[in-house]
Amino acid sequence: MIRRRMSRPISIGDVTVGGGAPVVVQSMAKTDTRNARATIDQIRRLEECGCQLVRVAVPDGEAAAAIPAIKRGIAIPLIADIHFDYRLALLALEGGVDGLRLNPGNIQDPEQIKKVVLAAKERNIPIRIGVNAGSLPPAKNKEQTIVDRMVSAALEEIHLLESLDFELIKVSLKAFDVPDTVAANKALAERMPYPIHLGITEAGTPRRGVIRSAVGIGILLHQGIGDTIRVSLSGDPCEEVFAGYEILKALDLSQRGPTLISCPSCGRAEVDIIALANAVEERLVKLEKPVKVAVMGCVVNGPGEAREADVGIACGKGKGVIFRKGEQVCTVEEAGLLEALMAEVEGI
Ligand code: SF4
Repeated sequence: MIRRRMSRPISIGDVTVGGGAPVVVQSMAKTDTRNARATIDQIRRLEECGCQLVRVAVPDGEAAAAIPAIKRGIAIPLIADIHFDYRLALLALEGGVDGLRLNPGNIQDPEQIKKVVLAAKERNIPIRIGVNAGSLPPAKNKEQTIVDRMVSAALEEIHLLESLDFELIKVSLKAFDVPDTVAANKALAERMPYPIHLGITEAGTPRRGVIRSAVGIGILLHQGIGDTIRVSLSGDPCEEVFAGYEILKALDLSQRGPTLISCPSCGRAEVDIIALANAVEERLVKLEKPVKVAVMGCVVNGPGEAREADVGIACGKGKGVIFRKGEQVCTVEEAGLLEALMAEVEGI
């Protein structure tokens, strides 16, 4: 059982982040924000796969101008990602965003930040202080490590926002390096009360990025740190959401969607367990109910795992025994296993 750090909750639209609320899975649209239609379509796909918050890049005024249309076309809260130009944050707020992300590495003038904070305060809109190891404010001295610089960039910005009587704050410290990300977030978590957004930045293609993210985000979540997560992948944003939930499920922090237990197969298997497991995963992807499904190759661990799952198959020579809630239901030939298993899953 993970004991979670109790942060001060904020609301981004109708989603609560922090304060012990379930960890929120978010992603970022990869379309050109100026193309509202394409952005809405992608966000709707993200909604279908369970994304709870979405961020869009706002690189210029035209992108900011698309925000009202995007807001109208989607159901989940929208966060504007702002770099370099504080005026884009003001435009995004006017456009009706539910949250802002500011990068202290590239908007540093306190007067500009003050204008954004006052406008956000008027509308009750939270701000994420999004520190990234790749765009840090200049080092104060040679001794400062990357971790020190990340933490101090966040704390300085937090103090600035607090001095303006603004506390709708969320913070992220992201690096590509997992030990740096872990150390920075641990240090920060002890020094401020606000919710933490976790992620490993520029984590890579799905194959590598999922692993890097799962290690970094997983270590921190296991230590009770983290209120919302984003898995950054050079790939389909739905893969980010899928990976996010898998990380949470691996730590028992989410029950959303099915959990697939499948054996790796070996010389004992007498059915094509790899093909079957992949076909089952494909069919489960769209389900939201928290059903546990086991696909097992033989009698070594098969009956045990299959019995423990909500629905399971323990395979033998060219056939499999189907279990539901621990009870043996029927024996099915290999060709009919997928459909028989899915019929049981649908009946749960
Ligand atoms: S369950 Fe059976 S087939 Fe699957 S890996 Fe274990 S021993 Fe091999």
